[in-house]
Amino acid sequence: MQDYDIVIGLEVHSELKTNSKVFCSCKNQFGQEPNTNCCPVCVGLPGALPVLNKKAVELVIKAGLTMDCEINDIAVFERKNYFYPDLAKAYQISQLVKPICVGGHIDLENKTVRLNRIHLEEDAGKLVHSTAAIGTLIDYNRGGVPLMELVTEPDISSADEAVEFLTKLRQRLIYAGVAECKMEQGGMRCDVNISVKKRGSLELGERTEMKNLNSFKSVYRAINYEANRQIEVLKNGGKIVQETRKWDDNHNRSISMRKKETSSDYRYFPDPDMLAVEIPREDVEALRKTLPLMPEELKARYISEYGLSEYESEILTRENHLSDYFNKTISFYNNPKEVYNWILTEILSRIESSENISISPENLAKLLKLVENKEVTRTNAKEMLSRIMENGEEIEALIKEYGGGVDETALKALVENIVTSNPKAVEDYKTSDTPEKVFRWFTGQVMKETKGKANASKAEEFIRELLNK
Ligand SMILES: [Zn+2]
Repeated sequence: MQDYDIVIGLEVHSELKTNSKVFCSCKNQFGQEPNTNCCPVCVGLPGALPVLNKKAVELVIKAGLTMDCEINDIAVFERKNYFYPDLAKAYQISQLVKPICVGGHIDLENKTVRLNRIHLEEDAGKLVHSTAAIGTLIDYNRGGVPLMELVTEPDISSADEAVEFLTKLRQRLIYAGVAECKMEQGGMRCDVNISVKKRGSLELGERTEMKNLNSFKSVYRAINYEANRQIEVLKNGGKIVQETRKWDDNHNRSISMRKKETSSDYRYFPDPDMLAVEIPREDVEALRKTLPLMPEELKARYISEYGLSEYESEILTRENHLSDYFNKTISFYNNPKEVYNWILTEILSRIESSENISISPENLAKLLKLVENKEVTRTNAKEMLSRIMENGEEIEALIKEYGGGVDETALKALVENIVTSNPKAVEDYKTSDTPEKVFRWFTGQVMKETKGKANASKAEEFIRELLNK
């Protein structure tokens, strides 16, 4: 492999997070009964007219802004003509000459991957290959779901870089509220264009394409397999044929499907049913203002303003739900390091997804304040957290049970009792070289008697008062 360079370009499709489809008012919703969520427009009946969903255009603009794309003043929709059973009208409304976004980039750890474009198009229906005798079924529910297609320049040179790129892209789209990228539902799919060339050579090799990879793992495996296959062919004096290959994840191999099409095969032409879309600059600027901080920006803020480490910030910004949770919690309790520690050790270990953290940021903040004010011990606070998260118990009831359970008069009486019944220790306190050690013994006694429920700073105050009499 070391005699060859691998050249990879990606085409990534992501379903946009809109309420309705891109050219009709059917719901954009996954998991419905087959063919219950479609209308004449999205199944492509003759004469049905598309009406553009403005939200879909806005989401593509937002996506582009997070990657420094240029937003075109005018975007044009074209018909991409091809026949396939999941596309009943025999063309897909897409964009070729004037997409919404051009250029842009995503920066990886060690390189910048340039983007060629991002455009808006419609998704096709779905073929369901039934094992029963009836054969292949078609579900048109997905037809007309808004899809953004992002095309990179061939700047990626390994499977690792491809996965790093996709991870960053996915994070951005989720943070910006553009797409949910649920890969297991086909919400994000990737086509991989790959070729190999002699190391250092300027001439690109013939490329092959693998379509619709729907997990990072299959992208990774498909790239490694296909690069090796091409290198072997070249080493044996063979030639690479430009073609579309199918990735077979179960058998870890790619299989030739058909000769690769070029855009001229699709006979693109401007869709006469669609007006060109004007994109005023003030709209773009207004959308820019709605964008939240991207994970890299948040990470930088966590490091510089909150003093968290690179690693800690990385963990918190991997998922938007988690960084949102962290941000909210510190808005109630401004101790980022302590909040991070609790999230890492007590919360992440109890959840499968940061989407559903079963203690609210307000309540976590409340709990941490109780610990800071020594109204509950750290151990008890952990128990309380566990009971809230696992049994759904109310924090107020737990506060009564664990902390503030001993009122001041009772606490004072208890301290007096402990001090007077331990004259030897009192003597030690007064004569010892290490009086603080004795003092801590007294505090320990109080906490033992109250099962940790006493307000520790109050208890300390009373003990010190009596011992210093
Ligand atoms: Zn429809």
